[in-house]
Amino acid sequence: MVSRVIPVDPFDLVIFGGTGDLARRKILPGLFRRFCSGQMSSESKIIGAARGVHTAEEFSKIVASAIHEFGSSDAIDESVLAEFLTRLDYVAVDARGDTGWTELAGKIRKNLVNAFYFSVGPSLFGDLAERLKRFEMADDDSRIVVEKPFGRDLATAKALNASLAKHFDETQIYRIDHYLGKETVQNLMAVRFGNMLFEPLWNSQYIDHIQITVAETVGVGGRGEYYDRSGAMRDMVQNHLMQLLCLIAMEPPAKFEPDAVRDEKLKVIRALEPVLPHHIVRGQYGPSEDDDDFRTHVEDSSSKTESFIAMKMAISNWRWAGTPFYLRTGKRLKARTSEITVVFKDAPHSIFGADAGRHNNELRIRLQPNEGMTLDVTIKEPGPGGMRLVDVPLDMAFADALGDNAIDAPDAYERLIMDVIRGNQTLFMRGDEVEAAWAWTDPIIEGWQARGEIPKTYDSGSEGPTDAMAMIARDGRIWREIKR
Ligand code: NAD
Repeated sequence: MVSRVIPVDPFDLVIFGGTGDLARRKILPGLFRRFCSGQMSSESKIIGAARGVHTAEEFSKIVASAIHEFGSSDAIDESVLAEFLTRLDYVAVDARGDTGWTELAGKIRKNLVNAFYFSVGPSLFGDLAERLKRFEMADDDSRIVVEKPFGRDLATAKALNASLAKHFDETQIYRIDHYLGKETVQNLMAVRFGNMLFEPLWNSQYIDHIQITVAETVGVGGRGEYYDRSGAMRDMVQNHLMQLLCLIAMEPPAKFEPDAVRDEKLKVIRALEPVLPHHIVRGQYGPSEDDDDFRTHVEDSSSKTESFIAMKMAISNWRWAGTPFYLRTGKRLKARTSEITVVFKDAPHSIFGADAGRHNNELRIRLQPNEGMTLDVTIKEPGPGGMRLVDVPLDMAFADALGDNAIDAPDAYERLIMDVIRGNQTLFMRGDEVEAAWAWTDPIIEGWQARGEIPKTYDSGSEGPTDAMAMIARDGRIWREIKR
């Protein structure tokens, strides 16, 4: 199987915040990999725009060192890197002032695709959008890319949407949730809608429950100040886990097209039931051998912010009424893993008698690490001991099944930036989707605040607070073990 790289049209991409952490770790190394693959043509140009005063040569050096530090694990071809660096330029601009804007406008080539990546804090989004129009750099075909967090509640998300909508049409706005750019996340749609095998069973008649786990081993580290204002609910659930839930639960769209897909995702969010307080467990990690506890990383030593959350969710529609969704995410957990487990119901009647045991099928979709799928099927236990049943996994690691194509797959940021250039919004969140997710999230957070809820402490390196185990155990179910 030969992987196809389809070059995108030549473009001018301005990265506001081009010297920042995200640009250096993800965006610029990602663009370099797309350049190496031939997808980004040498006619294209990347212009860094940030507050710091640098020459284009100094910016090239910043980018080269970022690519060496954060780029691919393969050896870097220095001649290709040198060619890539010739495609860079830099202008010092102040998002809140007028310096640099005329110079920047003079560098944009109007006959090419123009995209503007807002890799800066959300408080600058409105200022940037306004100046892009005032300095006549953006027209009706230009695209803007905005980063998370997209608001911290419904009111701020609405205000952000409104500040962008004043200057840009929704079809020009690309809200990044990098989870949607992950290969396996898109595979969720391919598995569901490309196979006859699963979709007929994909409903509450056949599925007992679904678990979504996104576990991290890292703590809040140097991001303590930001994280303390956010917490797992805002940082992970409202966006990443919500997107996974939508892709797992949505109805088949008529076409794999931006609004068809996003309409179906929106319907899932709107069908979510409010979550009852006893269906949520919040946690905060304690110390470990090699790290301090959560509170030592944040300014407020009595912080009530959660670094872990587990919840039971219900979707009120014909497909899912009666099938709970259990979501769990946290920092400093036992292993770094993201996976979705679909637990099917028992067979309605066992012809093998009580001794054979009761079995149900499980489909596990691993998003990271070792992307792939496992389907547990029930077979006869080998040997002469009568008919006893045993579950065995049909295991497929995508790297084994797809060989080099899996290894060469672009990472989430690379794919999403190429989609911006192509003008394909399928993997980006629409404004109403983001607002619906906040509308569901807000009352939950307000409830904690009103009740003065304090998160349960959990051991670093564990699977989270014991209350999370108790919550699912009350339903007669257990979490999948968090393991690599
Ligand atoms: P950063 O602080 O490292 O970089 C900020 C950049 O913005 C710098 O280049 C700075 O010069 C520029 N900037 C700041 N104020 C400016 C102004 N007034 N005018 C022009 N430029 C200005 O931040 P970051 O970590 O790169 O994050 C950027 C955005 O991406 C934030 O919204 C953040 O929440 C989001 N994000 C970051 C990460 C990450 O891993 N760093 C991940 C997801 C989302």
